[in-house]
Amino acid sequence: MGSNGMNPARRTQYLKALGITRWQNRPAVLKVDKKGTPRAKDTSVIEPSPTQGGSIILDQLALEAAACTRCTLHETRNRVVFGSGNVKAKWLFVGEAPGREEDRLGEAFVGRAGQLLNSMLFALGLDREDAYIANVLKCRPPDNRDPGGEEVAACEAFLHRQVELVQPLMIMALGRFAAQSLLKTTESIGQLRGRMHHYEPFRIPLIVTYHPAYLLRSPLAKRKVWLDFLLARRSFIG
Ligand code: URA
Repeated sequence: MGSNGMNPARRTQYLKALGITRWQNRPAVLKVDKKGTPRAKDTSVIEPSPTQGGSIILDQLALEAAACTRCTLHETRNRVVFGSGNVKAKWLFVGEAPGREEDRLGEAFVGRAGQLLNSMLFALGLDREDAYIANVLKCRPPDNRDPGGEEVAACEAFLHRQVELVQPLMIMALGRFAAQSLLKTTESIGQLRGRMHHYEPFRIPLIVTYHPAYLLRSPLAKRKVWLDFLLARRSFIG
């Protein structure tokens, strides 16, 4: 069974219908020196390495994030919520920032919004094992206030590296902060929804939709999210 209880045969059926082949190895990308030692802190360039996988570098990056003091959120956080999931996932979901439960447990989307996200994944024929899930901010803003511009700027290299290492085929930006941060725009969700974008410089297809927490407050918007998911599924080239 998957984490949402989906029967493996049913999941395979869903994935087949979506044209998704799971656990397919893709070349790892990693900058190495002449001796083959990974240069994990070099966030500028990546090259294929036959010996190191993206998951190792992601682990190193997670350790780096765990010790991060680049913005003041480190003073109030309990846990750094780096992100988790299948490092070879074809779908990457990006939220805003950890909430109280995530800050307590150190895992993204485990509170009420997370439960709704699981249902959204299920509707797509996926479960959490098929996706990689991350946030724009890795630390919780006090009282769940909106992320500040300096916090986003301080944290965005982590997300960029996650995208680079996972190499998803589709990014779902959940909510305004994820959309604006990934697309480097100030356009509103309403302006960004309903069409295909790309995450640069890798040109990864990206669809913007509402954040699950918004859906908890405005359940009528679920229909729009479903349309966004259909657009993503139609546009998905697996
Ligand atoms: N909201 C987010 O954006 N991310 C989480 O991990 C939880 C709630």
